[in-house]
Amino acid sequence: MTTEIDKRLVPAADRAPNSWGLGDGAAIPWEYAPAPEARDIVTIKERYGLFIGGREVQASDGETFATIDPSTELPLARVARATSVDIDKAVRAARRAQRRSWGTLAGNERAKYLFRIARILQERSREFAVLESMDSGKPIRESRDVDVPLAAAHFWYYAGWADKLDYAFPGRIARPLGVAAQIIPWNFPLLMLAWKIAPALAAGNTVVLKPASTTPLSALLFADVCVQADLPPGVVNIVPGPGEVGMSLVTHPGVDKVAFTGSTEIGKKIQRGIAGTDKALTLELGGKAANIVFDDAALDQAVEGIVNGIYFNQGEVCCAGSRLLAQESIVEPLIEKLKDRLATIRVGDPLDKNTDVGAINSKQQLERITELVASGVAEGAELYQPPCDLPERGYYFRPTLFTNVAQSHRIANEEIFGPVLSVLTFRTPDEAVEKANNTAYGLSAGVWTEKGSRILEMASRLKAGVVWANTFNRFDPTSPFGGYKESGFGREGGMHGLHAYVRLEDR
Ligand code: NDP
Repeated sequence: MTTEIDKRLVPAADRAPNSWGLGDGAAIPWEYAPAPEARDIVTIKERYGLFIGGREVQASDGETFATIDPSTELPLARVARATSVDIDKAVRAARRAQRRSWGTLAGNERAKYLFRIARILQERSREFAVLESMDSGKPIRESRDVDVPLAAAHFWYYAGWADKLDYAFPGRIARPLGVAAQIIPWNFPLLMLAWKIAPALAAGNTVVLKPASTTPLSALLFADVCVQADLPPGVVNIVPGPGEVGMSLVTHPGVDKVAFTGSTEIGKKIQRGIAGTDKALTLELGGKAANIVFDDAALDQAVEGIVNGIYFNQGEVCCAGSRLLAQESIVEPLIEKLKDRLATIRVGDPLDKNTDVGAINSKQQLERITELVASGVAEGAELYQPPCDLPERGYYFRPTLFTNVAQSHRIANEEIFGPVLSVLTFRTPDEAVEKANNTAYGLSAGVWTEKGSRILEMASRLKAGVVWANTFNRFDPTSPFGGYKESGFGREGGMHGLHAYVRLEDR
């Protein structure tokens, strides 16, 4: 009996994009009706200031920059561009708050503020999700179901630790480090803010945070949450601005701890910039994760995991499963299923609830992806992109699959940070480990197999901070996340994430 919807009866090449073939083999193209999320849930101001000492202030020289919607290329707002004078003010405000209010507050009192922030984030979740999708280009489905709930979950989780530091570090006294300088990227703006601010505050630190220039708006809306939660002035300061502003922040002598998420290149610059000081440092940098599929894996499930691993958030994910390592005996059916699945991926308006892949965050990032994909073709890999229409305006890129990839190709080595999957093959578990670890990075990996013993064996041999088994891109505030080698050092999330914000003393 044929099933009601059986895509395999219609070869992908014969089907119209986003269509399902019916049991009689006929291809019936049909489209989802547009399901746009309402934009008016969020009020986007024409101009935003910096958030220093609990107040919105303009930059010392009055300069601003534009942040645009990458799905339309139209400006959303102008944002104050911090100067080194503003950085100094923000660090001083954070220092004062750390000494006078936040650092002297009992843990259970700090917890109350964090619980309040978590609750407000949940209450205002739609507002945050829409704003995040507009400013970053990510699909509303993801900002609504992943970014915002996880950001709130981090505040809930670390609120729970604020009065239990003695249990987190038994036999030791956990003291806050002081003022934390935090620099976050554009791929998960609110979530990275939560990863950084929640543990810092729980441990009694105050923060100065610089969001990425292309995505400052959710951090500035978060400033509003801090005011709504009655957070003492200066505990959280937000200073949008370009890379130099980030550098003057991390090198400011009043900063005790630096936490950075972004490219390996800038991570190294920061490390050099603060060398010789006693600032604590955590770096969460790039990745080139291997997603390894063994011949005993449930293939349909693996296909979903591969798709989620690389096309989630347009592939702009540091732990994206950008290298598929498929066991030779199953590579053909696996690629066939993948191509079939790719034909159903919907690329388009980030605010449409049906969209799977939204807009690339910036023109610069789109150019980088385009250049690396061209290098893949030039070096001899075989390119596959499903036929799909891209919107006329905005920064879009088709989900891309490369087969015939050699280990030496740039697309097998460099972080593309886009919806591009490179497929390599292996014969034995040893070869899989060797190829997976043959990278400068070491952030994450995935293993697909029915055998529990093989999962454990592979997890112990893969040089990656996170190894997912029969799933990919799963995050939880209780679980530490971080890398080896050029993916950085230090962990965020869980008790490990708390450790990065305390100085432990003997009792
Ligand atoms: P960057 O590393 O430049 O940006 C990350 C953050 O660092 C942003 O807030 C940025 O500010 C800031 N920054 C830039 N220069 C400096 C500096 N000299 N000192 C201090 N802070 C600085 O990443 P890009 O946006 O340039 O992306 C380039 C590549 O990096 C991507 O293609 C991807 O491969 C990788 N990347 C990895 C990320 C990850 O999560 N691991 C996240 C983002 C990018 P501003 O936005 O103002 O430049």
